[in-house]
Amino acid sequence: MAESDNLAQELAEVLPGRVTTDVGAYLKDWWPLLWVSDQPLGSALAAVKPFNVDELSKLVRFAASRGVPLYVRGGGSSVTGASIPSSGIVVDTSALNQVLDLDESNRTVTVQAGVRLNALEAKLNEKRLTLSQFPQSFELVTVGGYVSTLGTGEYSTLYGGIEDSVLRLEVVLPTGEVVWTRRRGAPRSSVGPDLSRLFLGAEGSLGIVSAAELKVRSVPAHVWKAAFSFPTFEAAVNAARSLVELDVKPGVCRAYNELESQFQFGVAGCTLVLIYHFRSEAVLNAVRAEVQALLREGSAPADPAIVDAWLEKRFKFREQLESVKNLGYTLETLEVASKWTRLLELYYDAVGAISGLEGVGGVGAHVSHLYEQGACIYFTVLFKPRKETYWGMWEAMEKATKAHDATISHHHGVGMLKKIYAKDEIPLGLLRRIKQAVDPDGVMSPDRLPE
Ligand SMILES: Cc1cc2nc3c(=O)[nH]c(=O)nc-3n(C[C@H](O)[C@H](O)[C@H](O)COP(=O)(O)OP(=O)(O)OC[C@H]3O[C@@H](n4cnc5c(N)ncnc54)[C@H](O)[C@@H]3O)c2cc1C
Repeated sequence: MAESDNLAQELAEVLPGRVTTDVGAYLKDWWPLLWVSDQPLGSALAAVKPFNVDELSKLVRFAASRGVPLYVRGGGSSVTGASIPSSGIVVDTSALNQVLDLDESNRTVTVQAGVRLNALEAKLNEKRLTLSQFPQSFELVTVGGYVSTLGTGEYSTLYGGIEDSVLRLEVVLPTGEVVWTRRRGAPRSSVGPDLSRLFLGAEGSLGIVSAAELKVRSVPAHVWKAAFSFPTFEAAVNAARSLVELDVKPGVCRAYNELESQFQFGVAGCTLVLIYHFRSEAVLNAVRAEVQALLREGSAPADPAIVDAWLEKRFKFREQLESVKNLGYTLETLEVASKWTRLLELYYDAVGAISGLEGVGGVGAHVSHLYEQGACIYFTVLFKPRKETYWGMWEAMEKATKAHDATISHHHGVGMLKKIYAKDEIPLGLLRRIKQAVDPDGVMSPDRLPE
């Protein structure tokens, strides 16, 4: 009998009806390397779909007792290979899909980890509430995956990333023990350290996030949408930066380079897209007047239909990918971040190095996710599907981020792709000691820490 059959049989006795050895679907995610590689990138003996936290805990205890590694699978939307198992058992969270408590009075929602962001948002919208987290992969992403990759959404300039929405997490530790990172429900506490932070971005290596209590807010009563055109990317980025320093920040703030303005909107020059959210119309009017006055010099108002076109297309990544593939290319996205004083140098260096690689058809870029300290630049590279070009662009980006004190990952996480690049960015010794203490038997995603 094969090793996988043995294991599956034993598992089925522990968790009847929850186990499969048909693991093909779990060996794919949205990592573009899969599109340029001729070999499968992962393997697994079995997959298990637990329906509640007790089943999760039983599964973890079973795996620990057998010395079999566990790899958690949320929506499988990772673009870094994070959700592809290397071996062992896949933990499929899709049946953990319940909204456990919606507390309208205190503006909180408690959800199981497998709830998808679009389903949660629809439920909140019924009560005129919102989580305000809209990654482009909104329709695929689970709360647990988003927490575990430190994800962020298109309205982050105003509302922040998932780290700003988490009140506390329920986690199944590698021993099978279930804990909440805080036992009480206060809006903030200095009884520290903040243990939720340990699991934000841990990519399943320290435990399984089984539920989360999140902050929600009212759907904005008033929205102002606008677009402006700039002669250069530098001018558009500098204008975007000046907006972050005003009293009211934009929700969406995206400054596109020439190629991406052309590709996304069919217009020349560099485009700045803005969406503001307000509770009061008086504040909307005041902010609109201030922003228009600030941007008057150096830009021209662009057709506001651009913003509606962006809103309409923003989750249609499948169609975009298809149109690129029809041209004989594929695409990769590289989302890095630096402080303001290095951002444009980083941009020029990265575009220069990547454009020169054989097989690259174009480098689009936009600045989004703005902070008073700096911003994320999101590069979209069209390239002929060749492995050499794929790795060439990442090596070029690694060099550019190192040279400009930037991070190689603003929000896509590390996965298998960036393990080798991430090692310089964090104190690995400390991380390994934490891993050893929390997961002494190496049950959770044992090969996933940066090397
Ligand atoms: C077209 C496209 C656009 C994207 N746009 C964005 C964007 O705008 N912003 C953004 O942040 N990301 C974006 N992403 C990346 C991706 O959607 C995010 O990384 C997302 O947070 C992954 O969530 P998931 O549920 O799909 O997790 P998965 O891909 O299944 O897993 C990701 C990682 O989290 C771990 N994990 C999953 N669930 C749990 C859990 N319950 N407990 C512990 N570990 C867990 C997995 O083991 C894995 O390491 C995009 C991806 C695509 C394909």
